[in-house]
Amino acid sequence: MASIFTKIVRGDIPCYKVAETDKFLAFLDINPLAKGHTLVIPKKEVDYYFDLDDNLITGLTLFSKKVAKAIKKVIPCERIGVTVIGLEVPHVHVHLIPINSIYDMEFSKGKIDMNIEEFIQISEMISNAMV
Ligand code: AMP
Repeated sequence: MASIFTKIVRGDIPCYKVAETDKFLAFLDINPLAKGHTLVIPKKEVDYYFDLDDNLITGLTLFSKKVAKAIKKVIPCERIGVTVIGLEVPHVHVHLIPINSIYDMEFSKGKIDMNIEEFIQISEMISNAMV
């Protein structure tokens, strides 16, 4: 069965898109740790990050770098934290999270509430900051 992220890639379910290439897609995490928390995925469905072939893992890293720089431009924060977990969704995704302290990367803490207007506004701001 297709992963939920493959369904997003196919357009079967919606997302707050930030950026896209022929191979990669970036969109806002629906349960964010912080405003601007973004997921970057390869469109190809691969479960485990270290199973990505060299071209895809390199491309994903370089695309994540561009997205992280765009997030940093529009979300006030010390830096963009990056992590890969993948225990919930079996489709590789890089978490990019605006942080000010180590605690901002704590996934077991409560997620923040964001309304639809904020999701739209933030995804557009990051998208517009992409170079
Ligand atoms: P993990 O697999 O543990 O790295 O976590 C999966 C992440 O995907 C979580 O932060 C979820 O909030 C996020 N997530 C799950 N479904 C969606 C969705 N439909 N759109 C955006 N983010 C999602």
